[in-house]
Amino acid sequence: MTMRRKLVAGNWKMFGDHKRLAELDPVAAAARACPSVDVLVCPPAPFIERAARAHPNLAIGGQDCHETAEGPHTGCVSAAMLRDCGASHVIVGHSERRAAQGETDAIVRAKSKAAIAAGLVALVCIGETEAEHMAGEADSIVAGQVFGSVTKYAQPETVIVAYEPIWAIGTGRTPTMIEIAQMHAMIREALCRKLGDAIGTGIRILYGGSVQPQNAGSLLAIDNVDGVLVGRASLTADDFVPIIKAAAATGAAPSANMRAA
Ligand code: PEP
Repeated sequence: MTMRRKLVAGNWKMFGDHKRLAELDPVAAAARACPSVDVLVCPPAPFIERAARAHPNLAIGGQDCHETAEGPHTGCVSAAMLRDCGASHVIVGHSERRAAQGETDAIVRAKSKAAIAAGLVALVCIGETEAEHMAGEADSIVAGQVFGSVTKYAQPETVIVAYEPIWAIGTGRTPTMIEIAQMHAMIREALCRKLGDAIGTGIRILYGGSVQPQNAGSLLAIDNVDGVLVGRASLTADDFVPIIKAAAATGAAPSANMRAA
């Protein structure tokens, strides 16, 4: 029997110092109190090992990895190194990296393959710009990113997709609930076309972009929203814990395997 468990993922980006790790104590307690929810925190790379050692009940992830296993890439981190530090997940293709580091779908796909090869779950970010949204091109851009960024080797256990409209990140704006439902249904369909129904319906699709304690419950109740990727509101337990509790209140969704069983 397969269910898509809700995942609440936090991306700390390049904020804070080691003292912020204290925020993980109440987060870990909330994760223990909400066993139906998976909780992932992606701190800056230097703090991954400490976070993973201190909180074995949380999933700890990197925010990026290199697309190759090793090599002369000064300043970069391989998926195996993240794994070695205790990470179980890695974000790939975040829009900030696509914009600032010029990461293309092909690079993001290669990164997700490298992550899977190292035993990590790849959390693949996709999403349209505001201009693309205004031009009515969001569906075709996002479907293209599903086909371009998600590896054909993806399985529900190894890949998670995060839909993050770029214009909603850090702005306090979100699409309407109907727009999110339509986009997630479209992404589900694209995953099924690319990977087949059994895999496509098993892969979790997160929503990201200005998720806050106030809107988490409504977002997590939308069909095909299997969790949230949270930036700013993941930086403090005061904001992040209520989001975990909101996920616990909504429950899991059956995937195709479940329907067939
Ligand atoms: C993000 O950067 O992935 C994100 C969702 O940020 P925020 O929650 O701050 O909008």
